[in-house]
Amino acid sequence: MMTTNGKDACRVKEEAHTAAVNGDGAEASPQSKRPQRFTFSSEPSIEDIRRMQADFTDERDWNQFHQPRNLLLAMVGEVGEVAELFQWKGEVAEGLPDWTETEREQLAHELSDVLIYLVELAEKCRVDLPQAVLRKMALNRLKYPASKVQGSAKKYTEYKD
Ligand SMILES: [Mg+2]
Repeated sequence: MMTTNGKDACRVKEEAHTAAVNGDGAEASPQSKRPQRFTFSSEPSIEDIRRMQADFTDERDWNQFHQPRNLLLAMVGEVGEVAELFQWKGEVAEGLPDWTETEREQLAHELSDVLIYLVELAEKCRVDLPQAVLRKMALNRLKYPASKVQGSAKKYTEYKD
């Protein structure tokens, strides 16, 4: 279900340092070195987004235009709009500390456009995206075992047993 009161808006959640919480003096894990982790709202789900976009498209009789190839090209166009926002900024720090609220909102709009087209493309290709993500993450974990690739940006083909 969608919430409309904004109570479940995105928020930044403080993550306590494991060692500090445990008070055991254990060395901090890599995750606990990050003092803050941004989290998403739990709604809308990917299925909610699929349904909202399907309703939007149906109401406008736009399914005739929203075929897989068209949706792919539309999504790539929106990725270009995201890239445009970063184009002349040089390196950008996590959290975008130097961006204005207007720039952040533009980015939110363009990222949303990308996601909406991605979800509709998956629907029109009959890919159950949430389940596909689970399968792909499992494959990624096999391809990049944490014990083997810790702190390295090498491609999986460069690793030796
Ligand atoms: Mg756009």
